[in-house]
Amino acid sequence: MKNKSIYDEIFDKPCSVCGKIIKKDIYDQGSCPYCKWKNNHFAEINPNNVLYPNLISLNKARKLYNEGKPFEPNLDEFMEALHNYSETQFEYKGVYYAVELVFNNNSEPKISLYNSQTKETTFFNNDEDFINNAKIDGKLLKDIWEETTDRYWLQ
Ligand SMILES: [Zn+2]
Repeated sequence: MKNKSIYDEIFDKPCSVCGKIIKKDIYDQGSCPYCKWKNNHFAEINPNNVLYPNLISLNKARKLYNEGKPFEPNLDEFMEALHNYSETQFEYKGVYYAVELVFNNNSEPKISLYNSQTKETTFFNNDEDFINNAKIDGKLLKDIWEETTDRYWLQ
């Protein structure tokens, strides 16, 4: 006999973004097969914040859904995601880059950018420094952000 707890139960509930009926658990978690939003309780109560496992806020996802656009983060949202999870990645022209929060002796976070091809790491003092100065192939990351793909949590 299976020991079934309430935590294993799955409910039919509407997706928070597109409204279609999907499967959610007791914590309201469930990936939407239609719009791809990863439903979760924390996004519901913080609709303007970027929270794991999504890279954009719930309200931004609703806006993009209504505009028929994919759920892709801009650089500011990517940085917010980084602070939420500490490790993120993106791909540019076939090369993967890892962005991580690192802590120095004063416990002040710094940001590292790791090139998986050259194995080089560049450090930045804070978000502003990273956004304004991070370069890929000699180009500012902020200028080529739209050309990056596979922005995600570091696997
Ligand atoms: Zn949906």
